[in-house]
Amino acid sequence: MPNKFNQFIHRQFRKNETALHELNYLFWECTRRCNIKCLHCGSDCSAEAAAEDMPFDDFLRAILPLQKVSARNSITIAITGGEPLMRKDLARCGRALRENGFLWGIVTNGYAYTQEVHAKLLAAGMGAITVSLDGLEPTHNWLRGNSGSFVRAVNALKMIRSVPGLAYDVVTCVNPRNINELPALKEFLIAEQIKAWRLCTIAPIGRAAENGDLRLSPAEVKQLMDFIVDARKDTRMATQFSCESHTGQYEQKVRDSCFFCHAGVNIASVLQDGSISACPNINRHFVQGNIYQDNFLDVWENRFDVMRNRNWTKTGPCRECSDYKDCLGGAMHLWKENQDANQGCIRHRLSTVTA
Ligand code: SF4
Ligand code: SF4
Repeated sequence: MPNKFNQFIHRQFRKNETALHELNYLFWECTRRCNIKCLHCGSDCSAEAAAEDMPFDDFLRAILPLQKVSARNSITIAITGGEPLMRKDLARCGRALRENGFLWGIVTNGYAYTQEVHAKLLAAGMGAITVSLDGLEPTHNWLRGNSGSFVRAVNALKMIRSVPGLAYDVVTCVNPRNINELPALKEFLIAEQIKAWRLCTIAPIGRAAENGDLRLSPAEVKQLMDFIVDARKDTRMATQFSCESHTGQYEQKVRDSCFFCHAGVNIASVLQDGSISACPNINRHFVQGNIYQDNFLDVWENRFDVMRNRNWTKTGPCRECSDYKDCLGGAMHLWKENQDANQGCIRHRLSTVTA
């Protein structure tokens, strides 16, 4: 049974946050290029991405007006891609962000994270880093499409784990191939002195949409939820499920906080072509503007209605869902452009598992 008091507090909190819509997390898709070719890439990136990287000065110019609204609430820029380390000017970009009052971090596959890169990024004020690790060595390398990617990602973690003040976590995309090795992966991470682990499933978007066998069956989703509940009892490492979906009976057991899709409420993104959206994997149908035509602050303040008022999500399975008031249609990144139904609701899939 969900705790009714927590439920009430959560709904109020979400309502207030939505009304205030203070931006505190901004993704910058700095490149579409990548040095490996993951089977589950949500962006379908490659080493030879047709599109050029966004010039950093274009991005900085667009976001500088945010300083006016961030006095109370500093904004973190999460630099993502593609693979951000493909940019040779990454440390310069980070330093300029820091000099202009922004906190910043990166999301990386760790492949190009050398000691030299590590030193440069820290010197440029990097405050947070997320590294992907999708299983033990053979499984990770298979999913990442590169035989050296596991060793390199682990080397990156060895550099990162002990830097004072550097926030970090490991993210694992769970799929039928790695779900049974989660207990072993957990012990591996603990032995590597990792303190924070986030697990997610693979959404049917980008390249993953063509790899249907990467999706967990409803029984495997349940196995994952049970694993996380158990892993959270182990105080050696903080484990949690990502923000991808309401989890029904598992809500309040698999994360530190209740499900709340902050897309368009506290989260925005600037994509490589200048598009203004929320999280980078959200369907392009939901793009709200473009930094090359619009004022970013104006777009943030006056658009994003589709994400701040989610009544339109009451369709398909969400229409009859008894958790709708707590979920509001789930993760924005799982809605397709025709807006007919959420594509990956964990709670809905769990409801099909027979006891
Ligand atoms: S769109 Fe997805 S990743 Fe972004 S906040 Fe919502 S649930 Fe989380
Ligand atoms: S069916 Fe819709 S409202 Fe219900 S938990 Fe799933 S996404 Fe949320």
